Amino acid sequence: MLPFKIVYHDGYDLQLGAHVFPSQKFRLVRDALVGQGLADPADILTPQPATDEDVLRVHTREWVEKLQQNRLTATERMRLEIPCSAETVAAFWLAAGGSILAARCALQDKFAANLGGGFHHAFPGHGEGFCMLHDVAIAIRRLQSDGAIRNAMVVDTDVHQGNGTAAIFASDRSVFTLSIHQLNNYPVPKPASDLDIHLDDCTEDEEYLNLLGQGLKESLDRFQPDLIFYIAGADPYREDQLGGLWLSLGGLRRRDELVFGEALRRGIPVAITLAGGYARRVEDTVRIHVNTILAARDTSDAVLR
Ligand SMILES: [Zn+2]
Repeated sequence: MLPFKIVYHDGYDLQLGAHVFPSQKFRLVRDALVGQGLADPADILTPQPATDEDVLRVHTREWVEKLQQNRLTATERMRLEIPCSAETVAAFWLAAGGSILAARCALQDKFAANLGGGFHHAFPGHGEGFCMLHDVAIAIRRLQSDGAIRNAMVVDTDVHQGNGTAAIFASDRSVFTLSIHQLNNYPVPKPASDLDIHLDDCTEDEEYLNLLGQGLKESLDRFQPDLIFYIAGADPYREDQLGGLWLSLGGLRRRDELVFGEALRRGIPVAITLAGGYARRVEDTVRIHVNTILAARDTSDAVLR
């Protein structure tokens, strides 16, 4: 039913209970897509966990072993802001496997979405801000290692800057990093991306879309990637509890269409990951993520028709 594949696993849920991070959203997005007849169960692929070899292309052996053996220091646990357990660790290995699979599918079908992932605050040697492993970086490194892509661009529209992405690819000319985010928000400091668009508090739809459109065009004129990884955070939404931007639901959908339209017109495949989303009503977060999938479907139909 969808013109591309969706990647999802029940194990994505971190089972955090009353935490501000509604990790049940992954299942809710999947259920909404199937329940509303927008996706067919046959559109959905089940990922395998990433291998340790995949993870070690990005992360230090020390960090990987600390996670696997549950040996984090008190400071490391505090920075992570989510519990470290066998279940949560397994969920991050699965999310990384999901992003690898989504990237491969995107190369075939122009689009694919991992209904999870986008853990852009993970660094090689530590995790923070709900992110243990950087699934997107792991996927890029795996596809490069397979010879499936030479270079990639990360387009990150989560309200929080992609500090892990910026740090991992800082001296890597094969990966261009673009982040558009609220300046006065976590993380502090913000290591430099190739392009950082720092937004004032309470930025609304029109200004946001103008700046994103301009930044994206300039970046793609300079750098022609074999693949775009789109980190489609739902948290620039005006009702978000951890964000201070004022985008509307319609503005967020136009954001997605802008990214997809620009990519498709240039013939660049896009792999989508969900990243953050902390709306007061979890239904709004789910709606924003579902809309991202629908924007990909509609752009795909419009451009390829
Ligand atoms: Zn975020």
